[in-house]
Amino acid sequence: MKYEITVNGLEETKHLAKSLAFYLQSGDVIALEGDLGAGKTSFTKGLAEGLDIHQNVNSPTFTIIKEYMGRLPLYHMDVYRLDDSEEDLGFDEYFHGDGITVVEWAHKIQEQLPEERLTIEFYTEGEFQRRIVFSPSGKRYNELCEEFFHERTSN
Ligand code: ADP
Ligand code: MG
Repeated sequence: MKYEITVNGLEETKHLAKSLAFYLQSGDVIALEGDLGAGKTSFTKGLAEGLDIHQNVNSPTFTIIKEYMGRLPLYHMDVYRLDDSEEDLGFDEYFHGDGITVVEWAHKIQEQLPEERLTIEFYTEGEFQRRIVFSPSGKRYNELCEEFFHERTSN
């Protein structure tokens, strides 16, 4: 099952992420895909807001991993510059840690990602328009999406 949403503007993307944050729990893994400028980092900022993180969340392109503390920890990764052949940076500790892990350009470390995860793809359709596609894999993320999208459409 896939779920699609079209948003118009940065604030809508952030708001979507912020509302998703309320459904997240310890150990959740979110894989973000999409071209540069599609909105992956903006979405993560919205998630952080929803997790009551008050620090400024920036793109971790150069540090690869950044950690923030809120209602739950947030592990924000950008693995653009890595590929699967590269050594393991201890990702597993994050995936199985207490926080929420968000990975931008997740397919670059495909082999190291947990099979069960929520993949979210961003497609740029106009200056402010983005199509956002949620593809859950595994029971946990299918139920999460079911609940999240049910709530959204019944409001
Ligand atoms: P990525 O991390 O995918 O490279 P960013 O979130 O860093 O993308 O950048 C997205 C850029 O697109 C920002 O400059 C933002 O202002 C702009 N933008 C315009 N419309 C949207 C939208 N609907 N959602 C997210 N970003 C948008
Ligand atoms: Mg980014």
